[in-house]
Amino acid sequence: MREFRYEEPRSVDEAIALLAKPGRNRVMAGGTDLLVRLKRREWTVDTVINLKRIPGLRGIEDRKDHVFVGALTHLDEIGRSELLASRWPFLRETVHEMGSPQVRAMSTVGGNLCNASPAADMAPPLLCLDAVMVARGPLGERTVPLTAFFAGPGKTVLAPGEILTGIRIPPAPAKGCFIKFCTRRAMDLAFVSVAAAKVGSDVRLALGAVAPTPIRVPPSVEEAVKRCSPIDDVRASAEYRREIVRVLVRRALAKVAP
Ligand SMILES: Cc1cc2nc3c(=O)[nH]c(=O)nc-3n(C[C@H](O)[C@H](O)[C@H](O)COP(=O)(O)OP(=O)(O)OC[C@H]3O[C@@H](n4cnc5c(N)ncnc54)[C@H](O)[C@@H]3O)c2cc1C
Repeated sequence: MREFRYEEPRSVDEAIALLAKPGRNRVMAGGTDLLVRLKRREWTVDTVINLKRIPGLRGIEDRKDHVFVGALTHLDEIGRSELLASRWPFLRETVHEMGSPQVRAMSTVGGNLCNASPAADMAPPLLCLDAVMVARGPLGERTVPLTAFFAGPGKTVLAPGEILTGIRIPPAPAKGCFIKFCTRRAMDLAFVSVAAAKVGSDVRLALGAVAPTPIRVPPSVEEAVKRCSPIDDVRASAEYRREIVRVLVRRALAKVAP
């Protein structure tokens, strides 16, 4: 790994100022994606800005008109949250499908979304819940619906110098499910994932790993198959992935809206 500077800011403003300095600077949350890429020399950085000592970026709070999940909230905290489980039990199911206990104890929901992998497991359920991303940067705070947050594989619409501070989830409870298809039972990335949710009478559907970004699609098997654009790679062919989308979407819709 190439040498880099390491900073531990104590406020969001300090982190934003460090990020704005000249050079290749990156923020770090749990480091489970970042450190792997640095070790593999896929990324080089001048400064790593660790966000973990900034108060207020971690935790889950009922704010009446939404539930706020801090960007630095660990995945295992999401899995253990009674507040989240009482409204959206499928978020707990999703977390239990991710990584290992060690990975879940280190990694954060903000890191999972900002990493912008097409296979990021937190994305499909949060897309179904109409989650809104809260970002802060040199120009202040702004919100972006999760449906507009991903810009391509590994890319988000966060502007230079912006940091994700949290996620707002509208308060309506939902019945939902998350189905992940991968080659191993554990520690594997999805080659297809599907989340479905029923919020009131509204049925919602989202897909992971079958397009350049996680996507929300209309809640029908035909539309899901039509709108996904899977690729061939070492793990599965596009044709096979499309067939798995057909099967998993049928199952997911049967679970939430039988
Ligand atoms: C063994 C292993 C198994 C894994 N299994 C899974 C799995 O099953 N499912 C899955 O989806 N992922 C999996 N991952 C990937 C990874 O653990 C997750 O994506 C995790 O949630 C990343 O969070 P983090 O806090 O570690 O992110 P980091 O590594 O700290 O950051 C990831 C990226 O996001 C940026 N970033 C982080 N936080 C912010 C912020 N607040 N604002 C702006 N940018 C930010 C960083 O600069 C970096 O570019 C696995 C990884 C490993 C090593």
